[in-house]
Amino acid sequence: MNGEREATTNFIREIITADIKSGKNGGRVQTRFPPEPNGYLHIGHAKSICLNFGLARDFNGLCNLRFDDTNPIREDEEFVESIQADVRWLGFDWNDRLYYASDYFERLYDCAGELIRRGLAYVDSLNAEEIRAYRGTLTEPGRESPYRDRGVDENLDLFRRMRAGEFSEGAHVLRARIDMKSPNLNMRDPTLYRIKYAQHHRTGTDWCIFPMYDFAHSLSDSFEKITHSICTLEFEDHRPLYDWFLEKLEMFPSRQIEFARLNLSYTIMSKRLLQGLVASGRVSGWDDPRMPTIAGMRRRGYSPEAIRDFADRIGVAKRDSTVDLALLEHCLREDLNQRALRFMAVLDPVKVVITNYPENQVEMLEAVNNPEDDAAGTRQVPFSREIYIEREDFRVDPPKKYFRLSPGSEIRLKHAYYIRCVDFFMDEATGRVKEIHCTYDPESRGGWSPDNRKVKGTSHWVSVQHALDAQVCLFDTLFTDPDPQARAAAEEKELYDFLNPESRKVLTGCKVEPALKEAVPGEYYQFLRQGYFCLDSVESHPGNLVFNRSVTLRDTWARIENKLK
Ligand code: ATP
Ligand code: MG
Repeated sequence: MNGEREATTNFIREIITADIKSGKNGGRVQTRFPPEPNGYLHIGHAKSICLNFGLARDFNGLCNLRFDDTNPIREDEEFVESIQADVRWLGFDWNDRLYYASDYFERLYDCAGELIRRGLAYVDSLNAEEIRAYRGTLTEPGRESPYRDRGVDENLDLFRRMRAGEFSEGAHVLRARIDMKSPNLNMRDPTLYRIKYAQHHRTGTDWCIFPMYDFAHSLSDSFEKITHSICTLEFEDHRPLYDWFLEKLEMFPSRQIEFARLNLSYTIMSKRLLQGLVASGRVSGWDDPRMPTIAGMRRRGYSPEAIRDFADRIGVAKRDSTVDLALLEHCLREDLNQRALRFMAVLDPVKVVITNYPENQVEMLEAVNNPEDDAAGTRQVPFSREIYIEREDFRVDPPKKYFRLSPGSEIRLKHAYYIRCVDFFMDEATGRVKEIHCTYDPESRGGWSPDNRKVKGTSHWVSVQHALDAQVCLFDTLFTDPDPQARAAAEEKELYDFLNPESRKVLTGCKVEPALKEAVPGEYYQFLRQGYFCLDSVESHPGNLVFNRSVTLRDTWARIENKLK
């Protein structure tokens, strides 16, 4: 399932299809992905990216990338760069259509002036607290500010002087003049501009007034002639305001369509909270492999194909819901099963000496690289008298139905031979098995029995003298609760109380096949029986291999799906 699946239809596609049919916008489709550069992108953004760029692709349209950078306080160039890298990595391209809301500051200022001239905006000199009090509540209408009826000339003059830096922060704001009694709070004379003396990552100190999100966002869509402006449900109540701006200014009428944001179990998605994890050192950075960020998932070993497949499968809906993390992992397994090369890696090694195998002999055994893909070919794996197997693959006192190695029992070594345990030695100090002695059946080369003798267990292994040392990081969910935010709120605890102390486990002294010397970050591997792995792009260096487990082989989603059948 490496290819993209056929896009299933949804309500957004239906709207666009109908718009094209009716000849709206001359049949043109243009969407945009509008991140605020105040953090790294997460899997929720990936859903929005796949949706916006996917619609443009499927309807012969275009999708812009626009940075919504109107808040100088929280934005940073590091985020601008990471966002572009992440969108590209996901497989999408905005070509030459990279925009910044900050590039529109002059045009936005002019539009605000036009609203003033039309009597539709005014400079208010109430302070923030008063504005809040005048605003009313859901059940109480708001009250009009005493400054609401300032004349056009006075408003224009004050607004110009706000821009010129003549006033202190909070002295004045520019507000739309709509309706303080509207049942929709967004329509109660919303603020359009505020004074802020801050360094902006692109405009420096050129501006000391900044447009509010709603004003900048809707007008930016219109400037770019976005036909379908897709956003998450919480902006549904803002739509009348957007439409009001565009209508009053007689601008291109972008149509806003809302969909339910992605929520994922065991995962938090707010950039503010993710920033908190980074800033407090609870994770190693935005790209910590446990983070739900695209950078973290890439480092963890997620493929763009798996993420795109996930976005397609969850589709879009009008109601909020939470997607099971197991589905995301299922998508990853489906993709990696097709293309990950198989290797043998022993994570917790114990030594086996094959006593009847000639000393100093090494033979190369053929191993299939990927049974799902004939084109992946085979490789040669060195075999010798001393090998490592997993410690858990040998038991001194095997329980019933234990199919692996134990005193007297016989198992198959993957790609190699049958071996039978003839002796074992304990380490007195630790009470653990130190060394296992076996004999092999030379007739069973390749792992096939000459006389159809059955063995129940197959173990992976690596040759002691050829093995490479490696470190392996195993991950579990970052939080212990499926909905840590709700749980923390309900129990009046901190979100951090639900961090999983076992979310990262580092295994040292692992032994891997020599072929993994060629491993590079960005490739996908399956370690037999252990899961899918990738080389850590930050911590791994030649001579110090560090692998991350992307996901285990056990697919809990498939089990859930089968139960539902
Ligand atoms: P956060 O709450 O994480 O800070 P945000 O919405 O403030 O997210 P933006 O940078 O404004 O972050 O988001 C850019 C785009 O991504 C927006 O169009 C937004 O609708 C979309 N988006 C953000 N989070 C999700 C999500 N969980 N599911 C789907 N789309 C999302
Ligand atoms: Mg936002």
